[in-house]
Amino acid sequence: MTNVKTANVNLHNGVQMPILGLGAFEIEGDVADAVLSAIRIGYRLIDTATLYNNEAGVGEGVRRAIELGLAQREELFVTTKVWKSELGYEKTLAAFDRSFAELGLDYVDLYLIHWPDTDELNLETWKALIELQKQGRVKSIGVSNFEPEQIAYITEQTGVKPVVNQVEYNPERDRRELLSYCREHDIQLQAWGPLGKGRLLGLPLFAEIGTKYNKTPAQVILRWHIQNDVTTIPKSSREDRMRENAEIFDFELTQEEMSRISALGE
Ligand code: NDP
Repeated sequence: MTNVKTANVNLHNGVQMPILGLGAFEIEGDVADAVLSAIRIGYRLIDTATLYNNEAGVGEGVRRAIELGLAQREELFVTTKVWKSELGYEKTLAAFDRSFAELGLDYVDLYLIHWPDTDELNLETWKALIELQKQGRVKSIGVSNFEPEQIAYITEQTGVKPVVNQVEYNPERDRRELLSYCREHDIQLQAWGPLGKGRLLGLPLFAEIGTKYNKTPAQVILRWHIQNDVTTIPKSSREDRMRENAEIFDFELTQEEMSRISALGE
């Protein structure tokens, strides 16, 4: 049966990316230990960023997992991002050098422009990401928090399309038009804040649907994401919740349940 270890999507450049990952923003406690726990549970994707100030811990967790034989490097998928203050061609190359050193890995799986700025600055930054991919230090490149016009601009100017757009996405922030655009252009949407930072978990609808499948509200919401072809990176510092969030591959919401959840965003 599909599970968190084996569930992947194909990106348009031929690379496979895990459907579910661990978000590492504001992980409390020892980040390397949290990453190691996640990989032990079966997570294969870890999402960090320069901004999170924990790339070193993420890299250490990944290296320890490999040393312990929990997974091979090729099975693991590490994302990091260039922050707003580092946009521009030369600044991004320098920022990547720092991230690369912090992570201490032989390559980064996915490098994202964390937040858009002007078209010109986005373009110069995008050219730096293309260069890093050419050098082989980055396997795939993408964007985060980009609108369709911003994606269209960098793509038209360079002929290189992002593989991923990571945006805030959840039942209350159901961005159908953006999702359609990404689907049409074969760009994978990846949800940050998939649980609305935990805020959505108390809504009665999720408990009601969850009862039918013996699943928790978090599991129902994450299932809604993946049935919408949206990959996602819920964050938890707690091992029990990491496990809970990963157990979403053994049930299926009906079309009616999907629609009821989507209606929350209307
Ligand atoms: P999430 O929607 O993932 O919510 C995380 C919150 O929910 C935490 O407080 C966590 O608490 C709680 N939680 C997680 N699982 C459960 C559960 N099963 N039951 C109850 N509570 C739960 O929000 P995030 O903003 O953290 O988004 C996820 C990731 O997305 C980030 O970690 C980061 O990697 C990325 N991100 C990217 C952004 C971008 O601009 N590209 C912006 C923001 C985030 P606890 O840890 O105590 O379990």
